[in-house]
Amino acid sequence: MTKTELAYTGIYTNWAREAVLAEVEKQMKPSRFQHVLRVEACAIRLAEKYGASLEACSLAAILHDYAKEHDAQSLKAIVLSQGMDREMIGYGSEIMHGPVGAYYAETLFGITDEAILEAIRQHTIGGETMTLIGKVLFIADYIESGRTFKGVDEARRLAEISLEEAAYFKIEKTIIHLVKKELPIYPGTIYVYNSWIQRKVGKSE
Ligand code: GDP
Ligand code: FE
Ligand code: FE
Repeated sequence: MTKTELAYTGIYTNWAREAVLAEVEKQMKPSRFQHVLRVEACAIRLAEKYGASLEACSLAAILHDYAKEHDAQSLKAIVLSQGMDREMIGYGSEIMHGPVGAYYAETLFGITDEAILEAIRQHTIGGETMTLIGKVLFIADYIESGRTFKGVDEARRLAEISLEEAAYFKIEKTIIHLVKKELPIYPGTIYVYNSWIQRKVGKSE
């Protein structure tokens, strides 16, 4: 896959995008960088469909896994120094890389748009409330064209109908997946699941 050229407007020029991509590429193995590019392509497509900012979704996607391959010690150091939830530490990179990635997006890349930062922070577990950008990234990460897990076709189908439905599907399936694999569930993951299921039950009453 090649880097896409987009007709950007405003301050987020193709040049800026290429510069950010070059930094991201240094943080990870080539296969993950390809995942990042596929997430971006998917996020842009969803942004077009649902009327989100293409620039914001592109940037959030490009930076979302920035910290994923950072070692546990450096992730932990940021969690502690920034007063993030210490409980994340026990769950390793899987849970820490979102919030720590958002920290780097702000401090290294100067991103001030809270919707972008929050989307990166929440991209693994979702959030009780999520912005349009947050949902676009959450779903794009899940259904990008390289994903092959059982259920991905259903997730892709739902994403064409409703971002809410697709997000709920990811939240529910992630819990089921973790239980089946006998993996520990971070309390934040359960908290998000509870808030979404309560809203869903509330709606059907
Ligand atoms: P990726 O960074 O592109 O691989 O995707 P994500 O950031 O969405 O997810 C990273 C991994 O974290 C996935 O394999 C999820 O199944 C896993 N994950 C999500 N929630 C939890 C949790 O509560 N506990 C554990 N142990 N893993 C989780
Ligand atoms: Fe991730
Ligand atoms: Fe990802």
